[in-house]
Amino acid sequence: MKQRLKLGKISGIPLYMHWTFPLLILYFVYDGLSRGMDAVGLMWLVGFILTIFVCVILHELGHSLSARWYGIDTEDITLLPIGGVARLRSMPRKPWREIVVALMGPAVNVVIAAGLFGYFWLSSKSLFQGVPEEGDELIINATNFLPLLFFTNTFLVIFNMIPAFPMDGGRVLRGLLAIRFSRVRATQIASILGRICAVGFAVWSFVSGSPVLMLIAFFVYFTATQEYQSVQTEEALREKNVRDAMRTQFTLIPAETNLDNVVPYITTTAEQGFLVVENTEYGTDLKGGITRPTIIRAIKQHKGQESFFQKYISRRPKKKGFFMHELMSDKVRYLTPDMPLPMVYQEMIQMQIPVMPVRENNELVGVLDYYQVREFVKLNS
Ligand SMILES: [Zn+2]
Repeated sequence: MKQRLKLGKISGIPLYMHWTFPLLILYFVYDGLSRGMDAVGLMWLVGFILTIFVCVILHELGHSLSARWYGIDTEDITLLPIGGVARLRSMPRKPWREIVVALMGPAVNVVIAAGLFGYFWLSSKSLFQGVPEEGDELIINATNFLPLLFFTNTFLVIFNMIPAFPMDGGRVLRGLLAIRFSRVRATQIASILGRICAVGFAVWSFVSGSPVLMLIAFFVYFTATQEYQSVQTEEALREKNVRDAMRTQFTLIPAETNLDNVVPYITTTAEQGFLVVENTEYGTDLKGGITRPTIIRAIKQHKGQESFFQKYISRRPKKKGFFMHELMSDKVRYLTPDMPLPMVYQEMIQMQIPVMPVRENNELVGVLDYYQVREFVKLNS
């Protein structure tokens, strides 16, 4: 989601275009040219695609503005070749609200389609004028532009209402399930069904030869999995404090320890995150934090035993050094036992500080690391 272009703001919500989006237009232009389309034909085609994406933006605004009604802000809306994505800061916890927010997107397309239908009905024109039959080549012109826009909006409504979580229909389904079951269970069922639908999309993509559908299949599959995990995490950490998950017994590693003599520190404990300290004549000075995987990797690197994956594929930032103070992360974030765990966990990920000291009355009372929170989630869900 990083490489994208800002198009502007609508009702205070930033609108972005992903770099792959123009590729879609280029693909259609290339396709048109190879079918011998002229400049006018291409203009109609590109104009049609852009109009559909205006409908897609309005669809996403339907979600965003109804979420705002419930006090939930939208981070941004991004246009992708597979459609639009509105990133809401959170999802409404009340099932009925989630159902409303999910329905308000397709509702926009229903309104557009109904408007076009009404126009054709009142002007007694045929909705099927110039619409290509099965097997005909798609050529867009002044006659079939609006009829095709009607059919595309109708298609968008039907497609989005397929219960493939996290697509709109799947969100409605989760909302309905959440009335009866717990949020985690409802998400689990919806997410499994979402992944089954994703496999169905992949098969459908093979049969119809549509690459966009394959992208949607991947998108649905991965976000369904990811969203289930994040709901699981959210529920397990809810109303919990740092105190509930922190470790009060912990190993401190002196900053001058090197890779040759760090081994005893990590083999005598199961801890995954360590604080790095400097012992001065005035006491212990906290310098930073380091994780077991970082240490093990540095040892392997030092001995030239890195695996192919670690060397070329893994995207973990590489740290060079021989001493703990060179290898550690020097970002220190002090916690107190009564801080809310969900907020702290989010900070760990966003600020990339995997190990945090816990202080109470100016004394170090515990350690909280990323792995421990993951373990806590597993035990509590
Ligand atoms: Zn939607």
